[in-house]
Amino acid sequence: MSYYASILSDERLIRLFEYLVKTGKDVLIPEYDPNHGHTYNDIIDIGIPHDHVFELISKIITLGLGKAEYYDQILRCPYCNSEHIRVYFYCPFCNSTQLYKELLIEHIRDGVIGPISKFKSQNGTLVCPSCGNKLITEGKDYRVVGVWYRCLVCYRQTDLPKIMYRCRICKKEVTAHGLVISSISKIIINKSALEEFSRQHLAIRPIIEELKEMKFSINSPGTLIGKSGTTHKFDIIGINDKGEIIAIDILTSTEPISETTIISTFVKALDVNVKKLVIIAIPALTEGGKKLAQSYGINVLEGKTISEIITSLKSILISSSP
Ligand SMILES: [Zn+2]
Ligand SMILES: [Zn+2]
Ligand SMILES: [Zn+2]
Repeated sequence: MSYYASILSDERLIRLFEYLVKTGKDVLIPEYDPNHGHTYNDIIDIGIPHDHVFELISKIITLGLGKAEYYDQILRCPYCNSEHIRVYFYCPFCNSTQLYKELLIEHIRDGVIGPISKFKSQNGTLVCPSCGNKLITEGKDYRVVGVWYRCLVCYRQTDLPKIMYRCRICKKEVTAHGLVISSISKIIINKSALEEFSRQHLAIRPIIEELKEMKFSINSPGTLIGKSGTTHKFDIIGINDKGEIIAIDILTSTEPISETTIISTFVKALDVNVKKLVIIAIPALTEGGKKLAQSYGINVLEGKTISEIITSLKSILISSSP
């Protein structure tokens, strides 16, 4: 199955790929949402409900439309799998969570060490409680040598509080060992799938619809057997009620399209008998390519999008000149 056929099989994928082409994105980055945990906002933006996001992501991967690559670590609750985890510091003696944290500093000149509160003077500046000198610059007059946690219930001090992780959803608590480590991926969209979609859905499909309205019967891609016996393939072949055949090749590229691609279309057209040959170049041909097409009598239409091209295409097909 072609990438395009896979995308067409699910209306949500069509919406997603239209969105990707429009925004120029080719990777889906997960983001944390306080209500739903990690999710893909690009998928939410195209109107997919939160509980279907991961189903669509796995479909993208199964169909080969994108691949997952590690993006970030996620810690999960071992009881309910939620990623909404809070960290708590406890007093290791009485299990209270009412802790007061204080920095331990050292007066470098005389080596006096104590909690920062013992160094605070009445006006808020730092003064050594032993020698009475002012401590002004950190790293020069004093340095931080540690942290103390004072329990406001049992008044004992520790430098190693007990750390627990509480699940915001099921309210259960675990130690670091009990947490589940999982990960979330970014999704890198398959470039070929994106190009094929952009060509088929955004260029070829609207042209076919227009031609059908003009009463052409369409084959896309279509083949014609040349005078030489060789079979030639064109993106679109249309036949009107008079039996006149038109052939259209659509060239898409981010760069202007060069002569060589024109030549290959022209060689095919020489061998088959078509009433009109049109090359649609998105966004443009090179100057050399344009001159060459003109000298070959090939109709060239250029534009950034198909809607810029369709009106001129209609007038070329209606006019009687070859
Ligand atoms: Zn939980
Ligand atoms: Zn305590
Ligand atoms: Zn001192």
